[in-house]
Amino acid sequence: MRELLGGKGANISEMSRILGPERVPAGFTITTEACVAYMNAGRSEPAGLERQVADALLRLEQQAGKRLGASEDPLLVSVRSGARESMPGMMDTVLNLGMNDRSVVGLAKQTGNERFAWDSYRRFVQMFSNVCRGVPGEDIEDAIRSQKEKAGVKLDTELSVDDLKDLVETFKGLYRDKTGEDFPQNPQVQLRHAIWAVFDSWMGDRAVEYRRINRIPGDWGTAVNVQQMVFGNKGEGSCSGVAFSRDEITGAPEPSGDFLVNAQGEDVVSGVRTPLPLEEMKKIMPEAHSELLHILRALEAHYRDMQDTEFTVEEGRLYMLQTRSAKRPAQAAVRFAVDAVEETMLSREEAVATIDAARLDALLHPTFDPKAEFDVLARGVNASPGAAKGEIVFTADEAVAAAAEGRDVVLVRPFTEADDVAGFFAAKGILTSEGGKASHAALVARGMGRPAVCGASDLEIDLTAREVRVNGTVLGDGDRIAIDGSTGVVTTADVPLVAPEVDRNFHRVLEWSDEIRRLGVRTNADTPEDARKAREFGAEGIGLCRTEHMFMAAERQAKMRAMILAEEESERRAALDELMPLQQQDFEGLFEEMAGLPVTVRLLDPPLHEFLPHAEDLVHEIERARSENTDDLDELERTLEQVHHLAEVNPMLGTRGCRLAILHPEIYEMQVRAIVRAAMAVKRRSGHAPQLEIMIPLVAYEKELELMRELIEQTVEDAGGGSLDLTVGTMIELPRACFVADRIAEVADFFSFGTNDLTQTALGFSRDDVEGKFLAKYLERKIVDRSPFETVDKPGVGCLVRLAAWVGRESKPDLKLGICGEHGGDPDSIDFFHMAGLDYVSCSPYRVPIARVAAAQAAIAHAG
Ligand code: PEP
Ligand code: MG
Repeated sequence: MRELLGGKGANISEMSRILGPERVPAGFTITTEACVAYMNAGRSEPAGLERQVADALLRLEQQAGKRLGASEDPLLVSVRSGARESMPGMMDTVLNLGMNDRSVVGLAKQTGNERFAWDSYRRFVQMFSNVCRGVPGEDIEDAIRSQKEKAGVKLDTELSVDDLKDLVETFKGLYRDKTGEDFPQNPQVQLRHAIWAVFDSWMGDRAVEYRRINRIPGDWGTAVNVQQMVFGNKGEGSCSGVAFSRDEITGAPEPSGDFLVNAQGEDVVSGVRTPLPLEEMKKIMPEAHSELLHILRALEAHYRDMQDTEFTVEEGRLYMLQTRSAKRPAQAAVRFAVDAVEETMLSREEAVATIDAARLDALLHPTFDPKAEFDVLARGVNASPGAAKGEIVFTADEAVAAAAEGRDVVLVRPFTEADDVAGFFAAKGILTSEGGKASHAALVARGMGRPAVCGASDLEIDLTAREVRVNGTVLGDGDRIAIDGSTGVVTTADVPLVAPEVDRNFHRVLEWSDEIRRLGVRTNADTPEDARKAREFGAEGIGLCRTEHMFMAAERQAKMRAMILAEEESERRAALDELMPLQQQDFEGLFEEMAGLPVTVRLLDPPLHEFLPHAEDLVHEIERARSENTDDLDELERTLEQVHHLAEVNPMLGTRGCRLAILHPEIYEMQVRAIVRAAMAVKRRSGHAPQLEIMIPLVAYEKELELMRELIEQTVEDAGGGSLDLTVGTMIELPRACFVADRIAEVADFFSFGTNDLTQTALGFSRDDVEGKFLAKYLERKIVDRSPFETVDKPGVGCLVRLAAWVGRESKPDLKLGICGEHGGDPDSIDFFHMAGLDYVSCSPYRVPIARVAAAQAAIAHAG
């Protein structure tokens, strides 16, 4: 009943039903509806509220066996806000309500602690005057300061009983000056004012601003919780603490937590005194300890999840103040899921559903030790998970050279490009000042399982001076740096790392997930190493092999450039003939790793000039060649001319994908020949060829695919591959392709949604730029709540995916549907793709286990 009672109110009520009213301090909740009525009536109390509160208070007093304002063992209450969604610290709270000139005496007698009683009274008068009647905080602070001066002490805690009595009188004077009334001695009057104050605080500046940022509607209103105060500071038989139903770090079945004897809840969290571990409570208060353990189990069984609670023991009597599902690290989440099934508390489906799939990343990469404390140098986008430490290098070549000497390095660049890929292999991690989650650096790093922080825009990376300047610090070659690609943190501190482990528990969760899920899980892989890793992680095939990555190694680039620079087709064919055997070799390695499984090979996609040097670099080279009169001058000039010739204003919308092959079919022909030969060779050697799926990128018109299909079928036949298990399909990554998917389906055996380009083209957002430019502002202004390149934009891009899936299958019912954009590894997007009826998702190797769990969770969430 969160909507009516707010989160806190609903939670307290439910807990007192489960555990019995004697375990939860007595109280009542004034509903959010009352708050709405109060606001609608121009901040005046709705009819009937006063009487209902008086009735509820009477019941509360009966239940607690104490009375508000009594001179013997008085009842005190807290008055707290509690909205439907938690708004921590945004609204007002009044504690110790019920204190007055009589009950202070009763409390002193009851606790045998006069100072405690007067300090409680002093705090109440102070809080009530300020929160409920607007006595300025500065006046209160001044009064405390002059009292301390008079007493000759520095700290509040050093004030004597008499000082506190004086202070209460001073505060009462301030109250009278401000309100023209005496400080209310009647607890009923106190309570009414406190309730109004909490209602009013819903409309306070802080709360309004918080709601605006978090998009919480202003017409929800807050509930008000009036609850008996219990005291963990009533002597050695009292304590306060926090307890988890299982170990909060490891998930082991033993409850864990902290507590402090003779202390209030705030003392446990504030760190003023060092709390004791929960086991110690067994020795000090064995009875309360055993009751607590019993309760933790009961709460867990009720909520069917690991719990995080707060408790107080007041003179031997245990009270539970709060319970909620425990936030937990990945290893604890996995351990809990497995144990809960073994203990027959949860079914496999229920257990798998308790895991936060996105957090499982932490189990697959080393990370910064969560206990380590260090200074953060800068923050960027958490582009590829895991932590890395090493010396700064500025170029891929330096990374390769350093790695050859056995040195750990982090490759630091403003951004990366095709030329840098060898450096990714060599470096422990990648750090860039530009780009985001869909930048080249992020994509390549994730594919290789290298940690990366991208778009750390505070870093000024000066490649000429070979310096990184950041907030007054200057770092250079060889200086050590550490990055955590799971959090986006950059530091110069030598933070300890903790190793990943895929343990028995994680394996079991993955096995269960495989039994439950409907979606297939494949991987995006371009190398045998990636393919092997992905298979270890459970990939059921390759959903995307980006063949352009195969041409990026240094020794291939010369051949690739010769192909691009060719002026005649015959010249181009000669260059392609040299590339063919290399390409065949690559495919053989990949097909061997994936024997028997589907492998989707996408033919060349990027604009050709990506393989050529930059014009500025060439101009420098030409100047050098001229001044030194070297014989490569002609060649350089010819290259520059071609670079200019190929340059495009919008290369991402330019001559790439199938457009390239329509201009130069011989490129795809070569690739298809290499695929066929490789598959035949692998079949000869091992008896198993993969299920080949040849995929065409960037198709917008059905005619494009038709032409490509003819080209492929002809080439396969010519290469003697007629007996191979081979299908032809297309990427769906342009809005037009989605609209005409029925026509495209007529010439396609499968579709694979390229949601990176589809997001780019549907939104008109450059995938390489937005995260470094305006995305942060868009997040801040709540235009978007996640990067659309990370989680699929369901109403927009997602609608295009659903449309294409639907009309595609209308025209070809057995059309196979997959997704290979980065969203294929994002749990929230996976849920969407499950609902859209796709057959599989494909993601980078390190996300395969996450996708397996997320796909199972989608099946569980939408079962029946
Ligand atoms: C895509 O666009 O989603 C895709 C998978 O292709 P690429 O990222 O290589 O453009
Ligand atoms: Mg694409």
